[in-house]
This record gives sequence, C-alpha cells and structure tokens, in this order.
Amino acid sequence: MSLNLDEVDRKILRELQRDGRASFRDISSRIGVSTPTVSSRVQAMVDVGLIKGYSTVLDAGVLGQVSVALLLESKPADLDKVVDKIKDEELVRQVYVLSDSRILCMLSFYNQSKYQKFLESLAQVPEILRMDNSMVMKVPKESPRAALTDEAGLMIRCYYCGHMMKDEGVKIKLDGKYHYLCCSVCEKLYREKYEKLKKSAGNIGPIVQESHAVAHSH
Ligand SMILES: [Zn+2]
Repeated sequence: MSLNLDEVDRKILRELQRDGRASFRDISSRIGVSTPTVSSRVQAMVDVGLIKGYSTVLDAGVLGQVSVALLLESKPADLDKVVDKIKDEELVRQVYVLSDSRILCMLSFYNQSKYQKFLESLAQVPEILRMDNSMVMKVPKESPRAALTDEAGLMIRCYYCGHMMKDEGVKIKLDGKYHYLCCSVCEKLYREKYEKLKKSAGNIGPIVQESHAVAHSH
C-alpha cells in the first residue's frame, strides 16, 4: 500500500479546489470515476487531515478592507510567545513563522484606528525586537498555500507512535475509517487500544490527537 496520492486523488482535489461546493456526483462525471469512489477517496483524505474543510473565499477588496503585511522579529526562543500574542487578533488573517526568527503576518481591517491600536499593543511586547509593515497595494495572485503538484504526496504520522511515515506503513480500516500505522508492532498495539476505547466509549473514530497530514512535495 502507498500513502501517496494517486492521479484520482489529485483530480478530485483539483476539482474541489476549483469549486468546494462541487457534489461527489459532479466530480465523478467530470473525472470519469464512480460517485462511491469519489466519496470514499474524499473521506480518506478528510480522515488523514489533508482536506481541512471547505470555505467560502471572500474578496477583502470588495469588502473595502485594507490589507497590510507585517514583519516581526524576535529571538528564536521568543517566537512562540510572540505568535501567541498575535494569532487570535481578528485583524490578523495569516501568520507564518519564518526561518530567520521572523514572523510574517497578513492583516486585514476596515478601521485605521484599530490597526494603530494593534501596532501600539505590539510596541509594548518586549519580545518583539523589530517591526516592519507595508500596505498591500494589489493582489495579482492569491492561492491556497498547499500546491497541488503531480508529486504531491502525504506526510502522515503513525497514529500510535507519532513517527513520520512516508511510503512505508500500514493502512487499516476499522469501522469504515482509515487508520495509519508505521509498522506491525504499532498496528497491533493500536488495534488493542482502539478495541479497549471502543468498549468503554462506544463508537469512536481514528484515535489521533491532531491533524497529522500536510501536503508536501518530494
Ligand atoms: Zn508507529
């Protein structure tokens, strides 16, 4: 078995990226596979955390919002603290922690005074060593961050031990859902844990704490 996405998975994802409201039937007729195939492939990609949801894409410009790119710098040890200070602010739309102890945030807002207040609050954060900002003038391209190339595969952590798996590993189906384990030992222990939890809690899904899959390129 392979954890890699095949051509059918990629075709389904392309259709969904183009139109998140496309029905399984629409997708099935567009790419020439059966509706149950589309449905089970989508479910499997939801289960591993690759498909995180379906959202409505709004145009900040039509809403009349102003966008700003903000670059913050801190000591490497303080990055998490700075991220915690900013990430829940409504006007902060995206946060990227960069390799050189910098944090890039994209902000959108209506109200200049709200933005000024936010900047003033950041000025009070001792962990922020430097702050640069520029207003967004045009957005010639704005795509989802995951690039769906032909090489796109999956990086999934073993549901039992948490080790990163690439092409190796075991995919098992329990109660109609896929579960990913890195080796037969983890598989055995996971099955035991699953059965035990199921006995005490009734119907359960995959026992995985957080989203374990991200799209990546080889
Ligand atoms: Zn494992």
